[in-house]
Amino acid sequence: LERTLAMIKPDGVSGNYSDLIKRIIVEASFNIVKEMLTLLDEQTASAFYLEHSSRTFFPHLVTYMTSGPVLVMVLEKRNAVSDWRGLIGPTDAQKAKISHPHSIRALCGKDLQRNCVHGSDSTSSAEREIKFFFKDVVSG
Ligand code: ATP
Repeated sequence: LERTLAMIKPDGVSGNYSDLIKRIIVEASFNIVKEMLTLLDEQTASAFYLEHSSRTFFPHLVTYMTSGPVLVMVLEKRNAVSDWRGLIGPTDAQKAKISHPHSIRALCGKDLQRNCVHGSDSTSSAEREIKFFFKDVVSG
């Protein structure tokens, strides 16, 4: 079994999409191993998205990610990383509504920035991101 990090971003939590998204997760045969509702501070959001720190949208991304609580989850199943990325759909929620109308971002997201959910993009990022939020979770 593989693990991935999923996050319901501030627009998803404040838009009351958490229950719907968790239902989709469970129906897709993921096991929710851990979950934590937390408010990211600037330092934590910046560290989480460090790879984007030189991008022009980075300050906006940090403001968005610290604008309200997020629900962070560790999901487990076979092929968890790619299956979760498949379920959430493309980064731009506007485009997702056309190309992947049943994806979570199409259902719950607004645009390129406010796309409602996060998913690790590889097994190595999943490992880093799970440790980032859940230092006490034993992997495997
Ligand atoms: P995530 O890492 O959150 O799962 P992703 O891997 O689909 O999303 P990335 O390219 O890693 O997309 O971008 C990280 C996040 O930064 C996006 O989910 C989105 O919220 C925001 N973002 C990405 N590109 C832009 C942009 N051009 N303008 C504004 N925000 C953006």
